[in-house]
Amino acid sequence: MLEIVIIPVLNDNYVWLARDPESGEVVVVDPAVAPPVLEKAEELGWRITQIWNTHWHPDHTGGNEEIRAATDAIIIGPRGERDKIPSIDVAVSGGGSIRLGNLDVHVLDAPGHTAGHILFYLPGDKALFSGDTLFPMGCGRLFEGRPEEMFGVLKALEALPGDVRVYCAHEYTEANGRFALVTEPENVAIIERMRHVGASRLRGEPTVPTTIALERATNPFMRARSVEEFSQRRAAKDNF
Ligand code: ZN
Ligand code: FE
Repeated sequence: MLEIVIIPVLNDNYVWLARDPESGEVVVVDPAVAPPVLEKAEELGWRITQIWNTHWHPDHTGGNEEIRAATDAIIIGPRGERDKIPSIDVAVSGGGSIRLGNLDVHVLDAPGHTAGHILFYLPGDKALFSGDTLFPMGCGRLFEGRPEEMFGVLKALEALPGDVRVYCAHEYTEANGRFALVTEPENVAIIERMRHVGASRLRGEPTVPTTIALERATNPFMRARSVEEFSQRRAAKDNF
């Protein structure tokens, strides 16, 4: 079973460190910066062997070179964004798969937030690294993609097993939840979830990972019944 550690960095970014205990291979997902990642790995006695990027934004790739220089890790990122992430060693895209030690990792295409955004899914461990695509009660802003693309991605994620844990790259839950509450005011699951979220944030704790089942019940973007409804909700959230 994958061992997963969260590293909060910058204002609201989450970098994830994950280790396959059998092989000792360690991946860092979306390293915005290097020093806190290297410190955490050192503290744990973990040797970073891979770096995964979900998309080209600097708050997901900024630590690439420094971590590689310190560890010799291999950088794996989206084929569609290779020109924007010159440090990529291995470019991958949807339908492809890679390995972390003995673990099978599926690459999923997730256009929307950026055109080449990818996700890393470990079906054996029921873990999904969702970058800036799926957040608790939210989804990424559409900077480069069209609503129908993001909506298609969310529908595909909705179909994953409910107990898949979702590791995203930001703490946006409270703001997403406030929008979810006004979008679906009668959804008791959202009201209930927001009580837990408020308590977690008061204690200074992360509200992630989430699960596919929880998103099916509370995510107004995944729950949209049509592209039109999704598109309207996304636009409303952008101005919320
Ligand atoms: Zn981004
Ligand atoms: Fe980001």
